[in-house]
Amino acid sequence: MPGPFVTPVHGDLDLPEAVDVVVIGGGIVGVSTALELAERGVSVALCEKGGIAQEQSSRNWGWVRISRRDPREVPLMAEALRIWRDLDRRIGRPTGYARSGIVFTCPTDKDVENYTNWQRHLEPWQIASRMLDPGEFKAMFPEANLEVKGALYTPADGRAEPQRAAPAIAEAARDRGASILTECAVRGIETTGGRISGVVTERGSIACSSVVLAGGAWSNLFCGLYGLDLPQLTVLASVLRTKPLEGGPEQAIWAKDFACRKRQDGGYTIACGHENVVDIVPNSFRYARRFLPALREDWNSLNFRLSWRFLEEARTPRKWKLDAASPFEYCRVLDPKPDRRMTERALGEMTRAFPAFKNAEIAQHWGGRIDVTPDAIPVISAIDEIPGFHVATGFSGHGFGIGPGAGRLMADIVMNRTPVVDPAEFRFSRFTDGSRVAPISGF
Ligand SMILES: Cc1cc2nc3c(=O)[nH]c(=O)nc-3n(C[C@H](O)[C@H](O)[C@H](O)COP(=O)(O)OP(=O)(O)OC[C@H]3O[C@@H](n4cnc5c(N)ncnc54)[C@H](O)[C@@H]3O)c2cc1C
Repeated sequence: MPGPFVTPVHGDLDLPEAVDVVVIGGGIVGVSTALELAERGVSVALCEKGGIAQEQSSRNWGWVRISRRDPREVPLMAEALRIWRDLDRRIGRPTGYARSGIVFTCPTDKDVENYTNWQRHLEPWQIASRMLDPGEFKAMFPEANLEVKGALYTPADGRAEPQRAAPAIAEAARDRGASILTECAVRGIETTGGRISGVVTERGSIACSSVVLAGGAWSNLFCGLYGLDLPQLTVLASVLRTKPLEGGPEQAIWAKDFACRKRQDGGYTIACGHENVVDIVPNSFRYARRFLPALREDWNSLNFRLSWRFLEEARTPRKWKLDAASPFEYCRVLDPKPDRRMTERALGEMTRAFPAFKNAEIAQHWGGRIDVTPDAIPVISAIDEIPGFHVATGFSGHGFGIGPGAGRLMADIVMNRTPVVDPAEFRFSRFTDGSRVAPISGF
């Protein structure tokens, strides 16, 4: 099952001998970090085991939203929105970003209350967001057959094209001097006197004084080699896209049974609004206790299953030597099989709500493995145990929109500059310093 077609980025042929910073992972977070660093005159090599943006960063819905964010992420997302607005001009390439607005419908009065309350988190940022009553919703979507109690409408939200955005940012980083190395898995790090002194890739070593691990779903495995316990699991999300069609909504819309976003090609990316599949794997048991609060929160939206993934993960070595192939070389691209019944059901619900989809033709289905943390917010942090080592991962299903902001924050931390927002909530040590680690509920 091939994933979506991603704008190809041809990797550099030569491996640099030494750089200031090596970024591991060519998703939206890795490329954004590389761009920020390269723009500030830092020498960077970005190593990606497959191709740029082949995993989550090209498979997502393409929503760029501050609405319904965990309040702990709102300041960073406000910064990310500022970056997106000027990004195409800054990098000289299209990312498909458009400030087209996002609407979250409220099926119940409780949702109306929760979303109304949530809006207070936007007040300091002067970002407009308002509740629509059922009449206003009908006026905005006269053709819709959808009974709602209300809806949260945020005009400042928008969309970008996941198959174009990270490749465009990677090319811009290269324009500014970064080396972009594809099919170049990083097997591990090297230290001298306890500090980072380089990385070992499948193509040889690169000396450096800092490393940023932006490894998405692979970050737990990588960290584990160094005794760093990053609690991270994955869920499978399934998506379809339609061929171009007329008369659908301009705004991205979330409803209980579907979520949709208009694409630049005139088609729509459609998924189920609330259901994901969780494969039970050895790490599910290892982290069961830590994920308990998150499980309680999302219990109704998770379909657990026991599949071949259990054996696959059980067989994956957790320790390996750096002079032989690492697990990252055995899987260049995570390309999980989508659950077509789920996406087709979502299209059915979409058609019931928006008759314009009656003749929608499905162009493609794909799956994506989302990496999640127990509190559903990322880690963007220096790692105290290994000076020079940094982690930017665990974006928990909403890292595409915030990715450019995360790259800026990570670059600030690496360069020891005043961070663009307070990074305390994203520290790695929250998993070990006795903090309560749980999602914030009620939105
Ligand atoms: C179906 C779906 C829908 C989503 N919808 C949205 C949405 O609408 N809006 C939103 O904001 N977010 C959304 N997300 C989440 C978003 O896509 C992710 O949070 C984001 O893309 C994560 O980016 P990343 O760079 O951290 O990880 P990734 O994009 O997964 O990139 C990590 C990269 O690291 C590489 N790598 C790992 N280990 C190594 C190694 N040792 N050496 C070299 N390379 C390595 C991998 O190959 C991979 O390419 C969605 C996700 C999915 C799957």
